[in-house]
Amino acid sequence: MSDFKNGTKCVQGGYTPTTGEPRVLPIIQSTTFKYDTSEDMGKLFDLEASGYFYTRLANPTCDHVAKKLCDLEGGSAAMLLSSGQAANFFAVFNIASAGDHVVSSAAIYGGTFNLFSVTMKRMGIDFTFVEPDCTEDELRAAIKPNTKAIFGETIANPALAVIDIEMYAKVAHENGIPFIIDNTFATPVNCRPIEWGADIVTHSTTKYLDGHATSVGGAIVDSGKFDWFKHADKFPGLTTPDESYHGIVYAEKFGLGGAYITKCVAQLMRDFGSSPSAFNAFLLNLGMETLHVRMPKHCANAQKVAEFLNAHEKVAWVQYCGLKGDKYYELGKKYLPNGSCGVLSFGVQGGRKAAEEFMKNLKLCAIVTHVADARTSILHPASSTHRQMTDDELRAGGVAPDMMRLSVGIEDVEDIISDLENALKAI
Ligand SMILES: *Cc1c(COP(=O)(O)O)cnc(C)c1O
Repeated sequence: MSDFKNGTKCVQGGYTPTTGEPRVLPIIQSTTFKYDTSEDMGKLFDLEASGYFYTRLANPTCDHVAKKLCDLEGGSAAMLLSSGQAANFFAVFNIASAGDHVVSSAAIYGGTFNLFSVTMKRMGIDFTFVEPDCTEDELRAAIKPNTKAIFGETIANPALAVIDIEMYAKVAHENGIPFIIDNTFATPVNCRPIEWGADIVTHSTTKYLDGHATSVGGAIVDSGKFDWFKHADKFPGLTTPDESYHGIVYAEKFGLGGAYITKCVAQLMRDFGSSPSAFNAFLLNLGMETLHVRMPKHCANAQKVAEFLNAHEKVAWVQYCGLKGDKYYELGKKYLPNGSCGVLSFGVQGGRKAAEEFMKNLKLCAIVTHVADARTSILHPASSTHRQMTDDELRAGGVAPDMMRLSVGIEDVEDIISDLENALKAI
């Protein structure tokens, strides 16, 4: 499949039936897999042979879907997880331990910010947060001798900052560490960060990849390009023996293309068990079959809605990198030439109170804690998803306290606009 274009990979990637096999990806709803001899099974446990034995570690349905995403991102190996939170946790924890340090863009998803700044900090991993559009020198200055990775989001949720992927990757590589990027909002249809130098790509598949708000899920894709051996002193987990698997060295045994994901499955999935269900992977696959059709529609609708809001007298500001004059317009043109995503943010004249009034008068746009599915939805982060953050923390993360986040769906755009227009009339 890797020779095909992304649209073909969306529809047919990951699973290629041979003669007489089901045309549609089968749901292997089984926790366990049977072997003729204990010796055969033992080889799997020793990582001496590949195969399935217990769905906590791996499941064929999930692996087919991971393969599709891997091809779409242009990676070397991939895994699915039970959530985007698990994906970002595993992606970082796979290469950072107590005593280590990670540099992250401050403009990231609220859940990830909490994971990094509270929970992983309790595990002894320190984070330095930088402005998403910091200069190369500012990013460089945040790196310490014990820094193990740089982290950012292609399009930040909900700040909608577009990150300079090449610059972040360059500074990471200068310092012998990988650049991990959460590509949830752009999806591989609109941006393939590995082509711009990113080393590891993560996803909350809950969003556009699923596309219908049916299943929470996550994924990690490895580019296979980061040379762990060249920086062996920084990454002993990949370059020295793992005693829990009879002393295998991941980077040696599985090569640069397979080491990172194999270690992540063999150690973190084994011990934390954030496994996706085969049924959810099946639904995710159905969603991904139309990803390349949905994304252009989300983008076209969002562009029209952004232009409508931008021209409306009761709207104070609109942020969407597709709008000329937006702070991220140029970066968007470079990294997201075919469109960014369906999510935009805006504030209304009259601040927080007017925003609440506006929300009450919407009929088609639904108030939900979700973005990036087929249905248009809206949220006021400061009073919901980000409520545990102070105003200063919100602003540091690029979230104005009066900001509303609108996720434009794939309905007829005239209906979305007239719903917004009516609600604006009410304030
Ligand atoms: C939603 C989201 C997450 C968290 O994913 P879940 O699937 O909700 O656990 C992480 N990163 C980004 C950019 C997101 O939008």
